[in-house]
Amino acid sequence: MQLRSVGAWMLCWAVGLQVGGCAGTGGPHALSPGHTATVPSDALIHDAGRTGMVLPTHAHRPAGPAFEFSYLPAISPGLTKIQARVRELDLIRRLPEIQALDGVFALPRPLRYVTAECGELGAFYRPGRGEIEVCYELLETLYQRGLKQQLEQHLEADYAVRYTRANVRFVVLHETGHALVDLLDLPVTGRQEDAVDQLAAMLMLHFSSSEETPAQVMENLRMAADWLLSRAAGAYDLDAYADEHALGEQRYFNLQCLIYGTDPADYAGIVDQGDLPAARARGCPREARAVGQAWLRLLLPHVSPRYRMSEDKALQFFGPAR
Ligand SMILES: [Zn+2]
Repeated sequence: MQLRSVGAWMLCWAVGLQVGGCAGTGGPHALSPGHTATVPSDALIHDAGRTGMVLPTHAHRPAGPAFEFSYLPAISPGLTKIQARVRELDLIRRLPEIQALDGVFALPRPLRYVTAECGELGAFYRPGRGEIEVCYELLETLYQRGLKQQLEQHLEADYAVRYTRANVRFVVLHETGHALVDLLDLPVTGRQEDAVDQLAAMLMLHFSSSEETPAQVMENLRMAADWLLSRAAGAYDLDAYADEHALGEQRYFNLQCLIYGTDPADYAGIVDQGDLPAARARGCPREARAVGQAWLRLLLPHVSPRYRMSEDKALQFFGPAR
């Protein structure tokens, strides 16, 4: 396998992470002017994602503390270029779902997003510091996995960049879920890891960029599902079943189920292509609806006064697509 030079892929990455692909399609997304007429007269608009999804904001009321972002220096030569690009792009702050959530919740203290060289692969929520840490090592590994698929399967030239960006989004939102559970003292029954996987999926399904089509939204989540599957071993010793995470295979199918269940018409391909067994698919609309409503009811009491709204109104943004 011939790998492109680091310089070449970083250039592609720099463009691709910002706008979703090396081809440079898209750009900073704007709201459709037609939507401004539907919000109260004292309200501004907080862009909360895909076309038509705008939160009315009451400008005279307080917002929650703004998120903070810090892109820490890397030491290893292979990671310094990644750090430079991440900082240049203001990568985490510019993720559509993070933009949509920023200031929406009455957090007891600011939540800080940090990228860093960790000496290990992963991303973490640090409760003591109120920080979400995303490791440069993870970004590098994601890109290399995406590039391997791109070359072996003769995929589009921007595939590896899109793969990296999609997974960064899912990981950041998964960790944001842990942070919200901790900072807002949310009750969670069952495995918290499953719950925050669900939140990340729902956010990517409902609060993605207004320029992304349903096909692109589905592709982003299926790339995230692929990464979960990549961590599946296929055969396990008994310790694996004791882990706080579900098995990779289970997380993979849970994610497929939420994608499909959110909009069975738009995402029918998941079942048609055999990625989700029909027996599981039948219950997925109900599962997706239950997940969306559960997270909505957990989060709604913690929405800052500026963005406060009724459950009915909130369901338009966070409920089932149809
Ligand atoms: Zn987790």
